[in-house]
Amino acid sequence: MPIHNSSISTTPLFQQRSLQSVWHPCTQMKQHEMFPLVPIVRGEGVWLYDADGNGYLDAIGSWWVNLFGHVNPRINAAIKDQLDRIEHVMLAGFTHEPVIALSERLKTMTPGDLGHCFYASDGASATEIALKMSFHYWQLAGKNHKTGFVSLQNDYHGETLGALSVTDVPIFKTTYAPLLRPCTHVMTPDWRYAEQGESAEHYALRAAAALEEHLARHHAETAALIIEPLIQGAMGMGMYHPIYLKRVREICDRYQVHLIADEIAVGFGRTGTMFACEQANITPDFLCLAKGLSGGYLPLSVVLTTDTVYQRFYDDQSAHAFLHSHTHTGNALACRAALAVLDIFEQDNVLERNKTKATYLNNAAVALSAHPKVNHFRNCGMIWAFEVDTGSAHFSQQFFQAGLKQRLLLRPLGKTVYFMPPYIITDAEIDLLINGTLHILDTLEH
Ligand SMILES: *Cc1c(COP(=O)(O)O)cnc(C)c1O
Repeated sequence: MPIHNSSISTTPLFQQRSLQSVWHPCTQMKQHEMFPLVPIVRGEGVWLYDADGNGYLDAIGSWWVNLFGHVNPRINAAIKDQLDRIEHVMLAGFTHEPVIALSERLKTMTPGDLGHCFYASDGASATEIALKMSFHYWQLAGKNHKTGFVSLQNDYHGETLGALSVTDVPIFKTTYAPLLRPCTHVMTPDWRYAEQGESAEHYALRAAAALEEHLARHHAETAALIIEPLIQGAMGMGMYHPIYLKRVREICDRYQVHLIADEIAVGFGRTGTMFACEQANITPDFLCLAKGLSGGYLPLSVVLTTDTVYQRFYDDQSAHAFLHSHTHTGNALACRAALAVLDIFEQDNVLERNKTKATYLNNAAVALSAHPKVNHFRNCGMIWAFEVDTGSAHFSQQFFQAGLKQRLLLRPLGKTVYFMPPYIITDAEIDLLINGTLHILDTLEH
């Protein structure tokens, strides 16, 4: 629970030191003249504690990564054990038990014949790997014109140049446009865009028809379609009907285009099933995972692919190998953290328990979903989102600041407020989250 401490705040000193040397991500640094940085000194469960002892409920899982709380005893124990064995060894020419065990388990857990695991450190690198692997596959298959990629309107796949090319978030993209490859973003299946009275399913089918129309004309020069299955995260937690995924798989098969499922944000139970693709019973050609993979502890990402893709590269010629590496590929500490995360899923029957938790939150949020300023209140698995009716151009920043005063870490995406709490959140903590959010909505000027 939050501890309130009345002694003199140490925040200004942290602020001063940080601004002199740390360039913060996705931040106009000048804004910190107005909004002080929050110095976090420790964490426990869903709580983050600042240097003055104030606790903040981490309702967005520290940018969507934290599944089982901060300083989780079981994940800590696994990392400490690994630390005394081997912290890291290069994965070219060497191997180790944690990376083998993790790959074996991911192979068993993921759909279809996915099971060849290529590791990197962050989500954007996983996107790069999937794009390059798909392109290279078609080159090796003699389809030299298949060099293009298609993604969805409002998709987000990371911010390195290749990943940014298939991303459709204007603020990230416009500035760097001259550096990016052209990419078509076809109609989004996000049901917020449906016509009045049109069902989510009908709208998803219309979006699938638009994709088919595009690929019918352009499949010969298209290597892959990359999508965020079920939820388009960065552009405001846009949710869509699983029928879209089913159709997408059929269409990609029909036109010989790879399907890359970017489950970097939604993998590991966020949509209610272990992987979002399971809800449409499909197997992508490439599955990108990161964020929750290590429980949010250490940078780790992986791309899983099929036997068909793997066999295409298996050859006597070195140039037919997949020519890609990241220095920290398969880091042993990160793999052990991931194994501990998978143990918790099994031992605690997490997916089942999350259903009960989601029901509790939905019941607790009845007043919130009916609030006059709230539109499109929606839930999928362990993600909730809604748009706030506001005229403020600075809504996101204002809501974030008001949240801190309520001891809540909430960081809206534009006018979309979302909850993506660690799965260990208790009913009492859910009540704090909902009541605090209602209070902010009632008191925020707009
Ligand atoms: C976060 C995210 C990425 C990028 O991951 P990083 O680790 O930030 O590079 C890619 N795709 C999706 C869907 C994401 O949510």
